[in-house]
Amino acid sequence: MDLGLKGRKAIVCAASKGLGRACAEALAAEGVDLLITARGADQLESTADDIRHSTGATVATLAGDVTTREGRAAILAAMPDPDILVNNAGGPPPGDFRDWDEAAWEKALGANMIAPIMLIRAVVDGMAARRFGRIVNITSGAVKAPIPALGLSNGARTGLTGFIAGLSRQVARNGVTINNLLPGHFATDRLKTTFAAEAARTGRPVAEVMAEAEAANPTGRIGRPDEFGRACAFLCSVHAGFIVGQNILMDGGRFPGTM
Ligand code: NAP
Repeated sequence: MDLGLKGRKAIVCAASKGLGRACAEALAAEGVDLLITARGADQLESTADDIRHSTGATVATLAGDVTTREGRAAILAAMPDPDILVNNAGGPPPGDFRDWDEAAWEKALGANMIAPIMLIRAVVDGMAARRFGRIVNITSGAVKAPIPALGLSNGARTGLTGFIAGLSRQVARNGVTINNLLPGHFATDRLKTTFAAEAARTGRPVAEVMAEAEAANPTGRIGRPDEFGRACAFLCSVHAGFIVGQNILMDGGRFPGTM
């Protein structure tokens, strides 16, 4: 299926690795020109080279922290008028709610709620004026079913989700869609770290923790980042204009609800 995106421009945040990178790769494969970001310049440049070679797409890079004002200003200066914005950043650390003081909450809200909202605020009117825009926020399955050790993520991402539920209905008339993609377990560095922490906590081998997660999933496996990236590209496509304000859970069916 041609996604109808050739020649469009996209900002993909936090995209040197993992799910952000997979979204960038899938968009580039559709002929989208990219600006990809991450804090670490070396990995970012190496990812940009890989994407250029595998897709022939134009890929610009911006090394910086998307959770800071300066980082976002640099992104917007480099691409002020994107057709597509994929919001992403690292997730907050796990812990016990008693450990999280006001500063910890401000940091989590800054990264996983305020940063995406500020980028949306900066680009959404331009998208509406051009009568086309696609915004995808990478959130988490924690929005659907809270993960006790990730209370900062549960709270911050749900705040973003509530805001998007309202805003998405305000801009849809102008051809702009905003949706959230909620990953379950995907094979990225972040997941490796999470499984390693669980292995250390329970004194078990990492392989056992991973095998347990695979066995518990209805698909019998962990998700592949390329599956996530392609779903993101479809949400950005010309065919997805009637998908508005949705929270699309990609977890292999792990969440057991009927809806
Ligand atoms: P990952 O493999 O660790 O990759 C994270 C990417 O984000 C890297 O490119 C990293 O590069 C960049 N990044 C992190 N913080 C950044 C910042 N402040 N500014 C700019 N770039 C930043 O992680 P992932 O698994 O793809 O996860 C992506 C998001 O999905 C996270 O919020 C995570 O919590 C969430 N999630 C993931 C899963 C999963 O199973 N993988 C499940 C649920 C939710 P630098 O470090 O160089 O900046």
